[in-house]
Amino acid sequence: MRGAATARKKRTAGRPRPDSRLTIPGVYRRLFAANGRQHWWPGDGAFEIMVGAVLTQNTAWANVEKAIANLKQAKALSPAAIVEAHPRRLAAWLRPSGYFNIKTRRLKAMCRWVMQQGGVRPLAKLATPELRHALLGVHGIGPETADDILLYAFHRPVFVIDAYTRRIFARLGLIDGDEPYETLRHRFEDELGFSAPLFNEYHALIVIHGKDVCKKRPICGICCLADACPSVTSHKPAGD
Ligand code: SF4
Repeated sequence: MRGAATARKKRTAGRPRPDSRLTIPGVYRRLFAANGRQHWWPGDGAFEIMVGAVLTQNTAWANVEKAIANLKQAKALSPAAIVEAHPRRLAAWLRPSGYFNIKTRRLKAMCRWVMQQGGVRPLAKLATPELRHALLGVHGIGPETADDILLYAFHRPVFVIDAYTRRIFARLGLIDGDEPYETLRHRFEDELGFSAPLFNEYHALIVIHGKDVCKKRPICGICCLADACPSVTSHKPAGD
């Protein structure tokens, strides 16, 4: 027991002390009050959301939209069309999303797997742990992409942890920021209760806050968390 307490103390030693007014559910309420509903995921149907989840790896959403528009224009936004497409052609359609050769391989692998499962519809019948395990077995799908797919394509109560989550909550002193993915996922799920609509909205709000306000160089002056954020004074507004 003493060993665990010492390890915990060591782990939190460099972390800013969180303000007692801030909790994981409390941050949600503030972000929602400041930004309103985000209506995520921007995508038409489960398969398009799955494609978007792969293409959004390491790139901004605007670039993904261009790649998806190319697929639509080529009438290639289906598992069969993507599997059958020549890799060079597919790579050309995916080019706007960056890392297009890697994403070509990943998208083909996911579509092959979807076809082996009999399409998207049978996947919706799988239990969440089974579906998550299967997704994690597909080439190029890691925990964040799998959880994007589970939450947004299949409406499962799985919390998505991304770089924005780590940055914002570490600055708030609520996490260290370098915990293993599963540790953070379980922490958010346990503290929020298992609700897919809530997780959907919360992740979208975290992305908007991390992208527009709590950036690498944060704009604390416009932040709805600033009065309780222990990092507010150590991160000057952009332009200073
Ligand atoms: S006050 Fe600044 S550092 Fe704290 S959450 Fe807001 S933007 Fe991030």
